[in-house]
Amino acid sequence: MVEKLFRKEPYLGSCESTVASSEGREVTLDKTVFFAFSGGQQSDSGTIGGFNVLEARAEGPEIHYKLEEGANIKEGDRVEVRIDMEKRKRIMCLHSAAHLVYGVFSKQYGPKKLIGSNVTGDKARIDFEHPESVSGLLPPVEEEANRLIDENPPAKTYPDEHNPDTWWWECMDFKYPCGGTHVQSLGEIGKIKLKRKNIGSGKERIEITLA
Ligand SMILES: [Zn+2]
Repeated sequence: MVEKLFRKEPYLGSCESTVASSEGREVTLDKTVFFAFSGGQQSDSGTIGGFNVLEARAEGPEIHYKLEEGANIKEGDRVEVRIDMEKRKRIMCLHSAAHLVYGVFSKQYGPKKLIGSNVTGDKARIDFEHPESVSGLLPPVEEEANRLIDENPPAKTYPDEHNPDTWWWECMDFKYPCGGTHVQSLGEIGKIKLKRKNIGSGKERIEITLA
């Protein structure tokens, strides 16, 4: 099973790895810095052994990487795994911001039932059940979230003591189960902007971008 270096070291942009299996243009690795889409977080972009990764797919605890045409990597090969760190850093900021916004919103207006979330290098969104438009509720949430970001509190991630493949994100008194990649201090986020999207009756979406 692949060792997911991005969990302990989300700021690591490359690593040396051994190809654990190879089938056509699809490979698995003994360790990796390359995150595969899960929990709503977009996959990283990058290369393995110099070949572009077209798709990174999480299957249980394993990650399968599909490489570009012409890739000829075999089991046992030593390869360099490299990711687009600019995109990764934006994902880390937006992912952390999504937890923070959800936490602040829940604190101000009561706990919400989350029905979805998504984080890319451009924006994050959280969807939850709420009976009416949250438009008017967002300015104080945005203000409080940015105030907390300015205070620059540390955020940590760690494996669950009973279930080591489940990870936790914790910052101030917010704590959520999450296996994604995050910044180590909220100040790195800079400043965020919030926008409401209507996604159907009884469902609200908050879109988060970096200002
Ligand atoms: Zn997270």
